[in-house]
Amino acid sequence: MKNGWRIGRIFGIEIKIDSSWLVIFVFFTWFLSGNYFPGLHPHWSFTLRWVMGLITSLLVFASVLFHELMHSLVAIKQGEEVKSITLFILGGVAQISDEPKEPLKEFSMAIVGPLSSFILGIVFLLISLLLPASGEPLRASAAYLAIVNFTLGAFNLLPGFPMDGGRVLRSIVWKVTGNLKKATRIASMAGDGIAFLLIFLGILQFLRGNFGGLWFVLIGWFLHSAAAQSYSQVMLRSALEGLKAKDLMNMDVETVPAGLPVQALVDDFILKKKKRAFLVTVGEDLKGIVCLEDVKGLAREEWPRSPVSAIMTPKDKLQSVRLDADGMQILKSLTDRDVHQVPVMDGDKVAGIICRNDILKVLQLKSELGV
Ligand SMILES: [Zn+2]
Repeated sequence: MKNGWRIGRIFGIEIKIDSSWLVIFVFFTWFLSGNYFPGLHPHWSFTLRWVMGLITSLLVFASVLFHELMHSLVAIKQGEEVKSITLFILGGVAQISDEPKEPLKEFSMAIVGPLSSFILGIVFLLISLLLPASGEPLRASAAYLAIVNFTLGAFNLLPGFPMDGGRVLRSIVWKVTGNLKKATRIASMAGDGIAFLLIFLGILQFLRGNFGGLWFVLIGWFLHSAAAQSYSQVMLRSALEGLKAKDLMNMDVETVPAGLPVQALVDDFILKKKKRAFLVTVGEDLKGIVCLEDVKGLAREEWPRSPVSAIMTPKDKLQSVRLDADGMQILKSLTDRDVHQVPVMDGDKVAGIICRNDILKVLQLKSELGV
């Protein structure tokens, strides 16, 4: 969801549209103008149908945006950072920087979405009831938007993680058990259950000749993968918790010259000194870092010919961390720059190097030991 078009900013939050959004936007407009409105109001002119269809489907997406904005505003109020909101084929997602830190915060952050959809639904319902009969097109549009918002609120309340209702469920289990991992597992299982139910119902509908069933299958499948993904993210986060840079890093880092052939690095440094990470220098100047992973990425026959500088990660690509940085920060600096290693700084001195594998190894050990 990285390649969205930016359409503006609200409260400092970037609003983006994913290309898949266009599909659903065209679909909604076509459905409203060609099917829904003509069915209810056959006397409407061609132009009126399409104008109202267009306006209504724009307001459908404004409703989705409103729902996500409310999540984001509560998140911001709780001290989280919200980078962007992206609208895509199945609705909207707000990119919130961090997981909530307390059950109550998660609860209010999650519940505000469906609540605001219900409130918006009531507002549209009132508009459709209170407008004079002469405003029939607007009444019809508002009535439809009321249905959409009530549906949006109700659907999001389904108790499957990572949907809003699943987050509400998680926050309650979290509050009761005091165990975020357990709460996440239960809420994700519920999410998976709902996902498969949706897929099952969708296939059933489809077999009965109702093509709308495919929609359920798509949403179910999306929910299933979202549940699995968010679950593993939470697990990773909790496994990385409590790991500190100073415990993960390779210390007594040795220095190799930038011109050294990779073959010599392997023979004289990696194998002899049993180390996996080295600082690369020219004279006294630090030029980069080289790790075992970088060597593995180079074809064997290139080893005698290539200098270390050809495979190292250059200094300007590295993002250093401090001695007390935790596992999540380290992983973030590795993935943000897509590098294999990160230097650990003690003041302005390099105190050690952490390679991607060092983290993986610790995670593996932890999972083997079940701790
Ligand atoms: Zn929501």
